[in-house]
Amino acid sequence: DGPLLRVEGLKVHFPVMKGVVIQKQVATVKAVDGVSFTLDRGETLGLVGESGCGKSTTGLAILRMLTPTAGRIVFEGEDIATHDKGRMRKVRRRMQMVYQDPYGSLDPRMKVGDIVGEPLVVHGVAGDRAAYRARIAELIRMVGLLPDMAERYPHEFSGGQRQRIGIARALALNPSLIICDEPVSALDVSIQAQVVNLFMELQERLGLAYLFIAHDLSVVRHISNRIAVMYLGRIVEIATRDQLYREPMHPYTQALMAAVPIPDPALEATRPQQIISGEVPSALRPPPGCRFHPRCPRAMDACRTQDPDLRDRGDGRAVACHLHG
Ligand code: SF4
Ligand code: MG
Repeated sequence: DGPLLRVEGLKVHFPVMKGVVIQKQVATVKAVDGVSFTLDRGETLGLVGESGCGKSTTGLAILRMLTPTAGRIVFEGEDIATHDKGRMRKVRRRMQMVYQDPYGSLDPRMKVGDIVGEPLVVHGVAGDRAAYRARIAELIRMVGLLPDMAERYPHEFSGGQRQRIGIARALALNPSLIICDEPVSALDVSIQAQVVNLFMELQERLGLAYLFIAHDLSVVRHISNRIAVMYLGRIVEIATRDQLYREPMHPYTQALMAAVPIPDPALEATRPQQIISGEVPSALRPPPGCRFHPRCPRAMDACRTQDPDLRDRGDGRAVACHLHG
């Protein structure tokens, strides 16, 4: 039957143009530069890395809101990497997105019910007025809000409630995959866990798969079955959640792990010093050899010239690092 989603060798490169009248391409930003992974039905893959590492671009390319430069995106058995708008329309019923910004992503002039029901109208499956209203009420209840909220406007809601509205909208067409692009990053810490729990409840109930994008490891810990760590357009480590937290193998994963706040002050005192330093190098000119070598505390001579492959270790984990070759 195969996985729900198989991404193979995905590249998204952007030309950098110069000139006003006559434009000339002067460089290429390799935002995503050879990303491969699979996602099963009902599974959550966390996708983690610093801003600018290509994780959002990966999500947008899978949804085909960006056109891949190379690679395959096999979703429900169909390679959609080169689909045109018309063919994507049908696919988009099955894959939806929840955005980072619960303030900017909802149209302030629309009532909440119409925001949630809009995908039904756009795809011509709204049915008659009674069916449409009943479906909206069901969706709103599913995300823990009250059906009479359908008559109100987004500005009347808190950030957490707005994110629930965004989730209800994403559920309208019964998708099998939701790409969640930092869906709790803009929320108060006290609200984040509630929204993550809602995602988990909905997954259990509806069999959804999530690609859950985040910039730190603490957010994805509870929700992910597996986690992929990205650095400068590449996956540097992919492992089950337990493997990754028990024994992070890539020095960049270790650095991200060291940046996760530890609630116990006794443990905090024993925590290794922050080992990640320096700016993220630009995807315009990635360093030669291992892209992480200018920031890596364990860099060796080979790291400056040889680009390590993402090597499958045969235990469900793959790592791109000469220490683990
Ligand atoms: Fe560090 Fe070398 Fe491993 Fe890159 S390949 S992460 S520079 S040890
Ligand atoms: Mg982003």
